[in-house]
Amino acid sequence: MQAGNSGGKCKKRPGDRRHKTHPVEGTARAEAIDIRMGVFRQPAMQTPVLVLNASYEPINICGARRALVLVLKGVARTEEEQGTVLHAHRMILQMPSVIRLLEYRRIPHQTRALSRKNILLRDRNTCQYCQRVLTAADLTLDHVVPRCRGGQSTWENLVACCRDCNRRKGSQMLHELTDMRLLREPRPFTLHTSRHIMRMIGSADANWRKYLYFESEPAA
Ligand SMILES: [Zn+2]
Repeated sequence: MQAGNSGGKCKKRPGDRRHKTHPVEGTARAEAIDIRMGVFRQPAMQTPVLVLNASYEPINICGARRALVLVLKGVARTEEEQGTVLHAHRMILQMPSVIRLLEYRRIPHQTRALSRKNILLRDRNTCQYCQRVLTAADLTLDHVVPRCRGGQSTWENLVACCRDCNRRKGSQMLHELTDMRLLREPRPFTLHTSRHIMRMIGSADANWRKYLYFESEPAA
């Protein structure tokens, strides 16, 4: 699966033939379906889906669209359904709520890849200055210490930021601004952080809860 850019979680092994640059038949099919179905562009396709390892361990969250592609490619199977059905081109697809990878993936216990997507995920799509929750398209990344003042592109110096705040902050340091402060101290995004986020997102969903909380229960 192409989850490499979402961090260490679902790292591709070298030579993994499912890499998108070497599409196998399943990939091509899923992509063809993707193109045919305009429905794949609908916002419903962005509904978060919990991704479990083959061992049922929660490892990631992806959009429903990505989850459906993984299921169609035969990389994952649907464990829980949303209860909504997608009708498209004589196909009826159950929208997944939880999917499970068919092949076990070793998850390195290290920080996830530093990427825009992961920073937005860590910051829960929330502008770290004005606390507005926005879509990824309406957010940018802000260097807390501006690059022109020696700020690096690191987990500790990059935060999700709306365009207004980004413009307002400009190349100033936070201590030079009286009306802007960080919602929270930016930290690296570890598996621990992502579990925390998975729980935040999934706490209202019974389908997710049983997978997210089993590790805090007494061992059977
Ligand atoms: Zn803002």
